Amino acid sequence: MRLFAVLSALSLIALGTSRILASDEPRVVVLSVGQGAAVLLQAGSTQILYDTGPDGTVLEALNRHVPAWDHNLELLILSHLHTDHIGGADEVLGRYTVNETWWNGALETNVATKAFLSVMGAASTPTLGDTASIGPFKLEVLHPPESVANMQLTHAHDGTLVLRATAASKSVLLTGDLETSHLRALTRDCDAPCPKLKADVLMLSHHGSRNATSAKLLDAVEPALAFVCVGKRNRYHHPHQETLELIEKYQIPLHRTDLHGDLVVVFRPSGIAWQRSTGPPL
Ligand SMILES: [Zn+2]
Ligand SMILES: [Zn+2]
Repeated sequence: MRLFAVLSALSLIALGTSRILASDEPRVVVLSVGQGAAVLLQAGSTQILYDTGPDGTVLEALNRHVPAWDHNLELLILSHLHTDHIGGADEVLGRYTVNETWWNGALETNVATKAFLSVMGAASTPTLGDTASIGPFKLEVLHPPESVANMQLTHAHDGTLVLRATAASKSVLLTGDLETSHLRALTRDCDAPCPKLKADVLMLSHHGSRNATSAKLLDAVEPALAFVCVGKRNRYHHPHQETLELIEKYQIPLHRTDLHGDLVVVFRPSGIAWQRSTGPPL
């Protein structure tokens, strides 16, 4: 009887372990947080969060995908200092310990969240060409081309941190709210297909606004899947019809957080597997 109990306990442990092992596969989790953006890169206990959405909604979204025992983010990246991208930072920093934070360092007088200000002093401000390896993810910073730290930008989007994250030979291009001229700068001197931009998954920048993408960018990136972080019935009418038509013309499947909720994309050497999900991890 006692042996049976021990065996049962062992099989439970084995089951638990196999679940954890299953989630060791690197994945991109697009979080449904309303009008804003938050994208989680995850592999086992490695968690990298790109933007925090507009408010505490991000915690509910993270709860759906991060194991309850894991209270640590290896890296927090804030693409730029608009509330729809950093509004949940206080809540995230209240719940999770964060090993490292990246931002662009630009001055933004509207930012007054307490937790945000407390960590930003020690944060890094990477620029084009900087790279980092965190868990299985290789991160490459593609924008801004040079530091905007301590600068007062006329337009906050001009300093957006854009990066490509690669794991298992698959990659995602995270574009934040980058717009027109800066998007053009990304593709300049790079004829399609463009190895430095090539990615399996593309985040449509600036919530799918009219200037969120271009034929040149799609030719350069050649994504198999695109997603847009956008809130239901938002007052900006994102995503823009022209952007939707371009994506349709390229026959790229599009995930919209306002229509489809969370998205989980698993990176495997054999290809990407994706699933719309409001439940537990794949
Ligand atoms: Zn913005
Ligand atoms: Zn935004």
